[in-house]
Amino acid sequence: MRVTRRVEELQAQGREILSFGAGEPDFPSPESAVKAARAALADGFTRYTPAAGLADLRRDLLDRFEERWAAPWRQLSEVVVTVGAKAALFELSLTLFDAGDEVVIPSPCWVTFPEQVRLAGARPVLVPGTGNDFRLAAEPLIAALTPHTRAIVLNSPCNPTGAILPAADLEALVVECAERGVLVISDETYERFVYDDDGFVSAAALAQRYPQTVVVVGSFSKTYAMTGWRVGFVLGPHQVTSGVATIQSHATSNPTSFAMVGAREALASAEEDVRQMIAEFRQRRDLIVERLNRIPGVSCPTPAGAFYVFPDVSACFLPGEGSIELAEFLLEQVAVAVVPGIAFGHDGHVRFSFTSPRDVLDEGLDRVADALTRRGTDPRSLHA
Ligand code: PLP
Repeated sequence: MRVTRRVEELQAQGREILSFGAGEPDFPSPESAVKAARAALADGFTRYTPAAGLADLRRDLLDRFEERWAAPWRQLSEVVVTVGAKAALFELSLTLFDAGDEVVIPSPCWVTFPEQVRLAGARPVLVPGTGNDFRLAAEPLIAALTPHTRAIVLNSPCNPTGAILPAADLEALVVECAERGVLVISDETYERFVYDDDGFVSAAALAQRYPQTVVVVGSFSKTYAMTGWRVGFVLGPHQVTSGVATIQSHATSNPTSFAMVGAREALASAEEDVRQMIAEFRQRRDLIVERLNRIPGVSCPTPAGAFYVFPDVSACFLPGEGSIELAEFLLEQVAVAVVPGIAFGHDGHVRFSFTSPRDVLDEGLDRVADALTRRGTDPRSLHA
């Protein structure tokens, strides 16, 4: 927030900031979705809908998950459309967690996960990934389970690391959680941002065998570049989804009527838009990883998914500095905004989003390379 405030101050002074901070695609929402939402508005589709969302959209989501992952959910009561994945996760927290409960979360993680668990009165238990790329694996997560554990919140591909939990680890985790009566809540917001073939398996693929264990959260925000529309969803055992629907009926009522019409159209007809966007993001990923690794003192693993890189920049710190100071340095010196890693619990890193066109990324990376190189011929020597 400190960095965001400074970005706003500098922009108010007329400085042009190149931002690597955004958590949303720079692409337009699909034309077909826009048209459908516009037509719904023009037709007067502007009233309350069922609290759990439009039945047609929920049916389409059930069909999609059955087709893609052989998921077992067939009843409308097993899916709730929510005001983004964020509301789905919050409503799950309020439904499921209580004082004394523990919720295991791989770290680094999206800042909202632990806060939502705390807001429900429970305790987040953060489990660091292994290695420089914070690999996700079953074993450390299983080791963190206690009799108080109510759920594990997975996020694969992960914000901020882009890491993907391998299918074998996902299965091992679900098997163990099923035995212990622990829920696996899988936030699959970035599921389409996967850069290597067959790199990702949804937890939905295990729901047939473990129907009481698997809960999947998804979103239209990133997949269809529809962040402002606020449409997400949750699928799972109806005891869980009916709790979510009840909370939602008192929290937000339904998601916006015409936004759900647009989302339904995106699901039906925007596959080509998604494919083009992902192809572009793959090229951006390769560009940013290659360019960051050329900067002395920066070590950037290649993310398998999402649209972030989370390089280790600790060799660029001056004595006493951390990720906030480095982010402020880049902002003040070369007007480049990045997110300090401490926001995700890892102070040796910063997060860059690759949600800008390649020429903008190039310009921003020139500036970062220049600024960090000027600090010392080899920033690693600064530690000496
Ligand atoms: N889950 C993760 C891991 C995210 O990074 C984000 C947004 O940054 C969300 C969920 C929020 O998605 P939505 O826009 O659907 O609320």
